[in-house]
Amino acid sequence: NRRVVLASRPEGAPSEDNFSIEELGVPEPARGEVLLRTVFLSLDPYMRGRMSDAKSYAEPVPLGGVMVGGTVSRVLVSHLDDFEEGDWVLGYCGWQDYAISDGEGLVNLGKNPSHPSYALGVLGMPGITAYYGLLEIGQPKAGDTLVVAAATGPVGSTVGQIGKIQGCRVVGIAGGAEKCRYAVEELGFDICLNHRAEEFPEQLEEACPDGVDVYFENVGGDVFDAVLPLLNDFARVPVCGLVAHYNATSLPEGPDRLSLLMREILTKRLKIQGFIIFDQYERFGDFIIGLSHWVGEGRIKYREDLVEGLEKAPRALMGLLQGENFGKVVVRLGTD
Ligand code: NDP
Repeated sequence: NRRVVLASRPEGAPSEDNFSIEELGVPEPARGEVLLRTVFLSLDPYMRGRMSDAKSYAEPVPLGGVMVGGTVSRVLVSHLDDFEEGDWVLGYCGWQDYAISDGEGLVNLGKNPSHPSYALGVLGMPGITAYYGLLEIGQPKAGDTLVVAAATGPVGSTVGQIGKIQGCRVVGIAGGAEKCRYAVEELGFDICLNHRAEEFPEQLEEACPDGVDVYFENVGGDVFDAVLPLLNDFARVPVCGLVAHYNATSLPEGPDRLSLLMREILTKRLKIQGFIIFDQYERFGDFIIGLSHWVGEGRIKYREDLVEGLEKAPRALMGLLQGENFGKVVVRLGTD
């Protein structure tokens, strides 16, 4: 029974030293508890925030504490009525082989879910984030130009495909030619641009001849700088994530462009709205039903980047923050 704990807080990009692996015995469930064996662990950009003790919307992982994370597990022993041995469950058990739960927050996926790990991705938190953020905050209309970065990740790929279903012209942004090819040929985006290309701002302007009506913000940084002048009057910007800044240790060098941003917001009557998807927790079931239809019909495609072994999780999280992943990062731990 291994678990990965936070050994120290990173300064800038995390490194292997910030994590340590501990070996423990397998825990015994008491009355009113279940023993779970983790099969899939989700790795997500927000985990960088939990490694830091800067003030945020959620508590940090304490030093020496198990790294948090969404998990899909099997029930090994159950002393709870709602769970039986062999059931697959979605939970939040963190980076460890085994976990004890009192059932709080556990979702029973049944004995035979067709793709259990999808509950961590397109049919789970990232998919829901895309669905809610785009449809309710972005309010896309047919004919709108929608721009989304991190276009092949679980959030961005779902945003772009829902945008196509809504009749938008979808411009993806991703890191590298292979990801861009995938976004166009497999996901059906109209075009996808490499944000690392030198001419990226000019290419983006060319790709958006009618301006940008919805910019789904996943990354911030240089990508936002390139999008801002292209936003149309009354454009909507759901601010979902700023992964380009997560490893930053200070504000960027000047000039101070805050007044430029405020002027754009005012004169173009922009709607820029941040959201944290857990505020919508009560509605997750409804969103999953909506997503399941589209996934079932093949209208939303989904790609996983599977990492084998818990010991590889630290390295994989470091890579995720730099765009080394291609698709939703899921670590496979045990045998199912
Ligand atoms: P991804 O799997 O898409 O991984 C992050 C991607 O960001 C990388 O693969 C990389 O893609 C891209 N990226 C990294 N650094 C940069 C950079 N400097 N400039 C441009 N792109 C960069 O992650 P998710 O789909 O899981 O998450 C996407 C965003 O949504 C994140 O910001 C995340 O924090 C946020 N989020 C927010 C939620 C909320 O409730 N608000 C809930 C869930 C996610 P590439 O190589 O293509 O550039």
